[in-house]
Amino acid sequence: MTATENVHLHEINKFGSMAERWWDVQGEFKTLHDINPLRLEFIQCYADIGGKRFVDVGCGGGILTEALARQGADATGIDLSSDLVDIAELHGLESGINAHYRQISAEALAAKEPAGFDHVTCMEMLEHVPDPGAIIAACAALVKLGGMVFFSTLNRQTKAYLLAIVAAEHVLQMLPKGTHDFKTFIKPSELSQTARSVGLELQGMVGIEYNPFTKHFNLGKDIKVNYIAAFKRAE
Ligand code: SAH
Repeated sequence: MTATENVHLHEINKFGSMAERWWDVQGEFKTLHDINPLRLEFIQCYADIGGKRFVDVGCGGGILTEALARQGADATGIDLSSDLVDIAELHGLESGINAHYRQISAEALAAKEPAGFDHVTCMEMLEHVPDPGAIIAACAALVKLGGMVFFSTLNRQTKAYLLAIVAAEHVLQMLPKGTHDFKTFIKPSELSQTARSVGLELQGMVGIEYNPFTKHFNLGKDIKVNYIAAFKRAE
């Protein structure tokens, strides 16, 4: 890894330092475990998973990568944290899941395997990199023409500041303090425009909503906090 890559080393180290607790469903990453079935449900609305080649960009410990592999995908997770790639591999072995993991950037993989994947996922990652546009372009380069690219991220709206930072990190302590920096949140219009400029056409977008009373997440119309979007690579 070099300093010139599109990466904040403090972000990689922050996530990597929590690698061993990634699969604790009641631990720091409980939220990712809780929302994972919703992400899968959304992906299934736009793409067949079984037998398809997926790359999961910024896969962390492999929560979504494994879920895709369980559905029969040939799934590869990539992340720049070697600790997380190790944890993801180990967890896959322990649970008998045949997913593959590599410590490589999206840009480097796109240079090696252009149009190498049927579909691409990139969840809760764009808000942690210096240049999200370059990741979006790399995802567009990784997917085959006509394939789907899925992104989820946080919206740069006051409501997201109040819920994803003040409430989630400080009041309810659902996420470790310092997980997110409001400045890095991305508006849906910015995501769609950048995606369009690299040949990705928006197909659908929904909010990942949280109800603090029932403590449940659901997919819904409110995209002011966390949202997930599906794009198709123009043919
Ligand atoms: N996508 C996973 C993990 C999200 S946490 C999930 O939603 O379940 C953000 C992840 O992005 C961390 O694993 C972190 O190591 C990774 N990451 C941050 N910057 C990155 C970069 N430049 N390239 C690849 N991965 C990166």
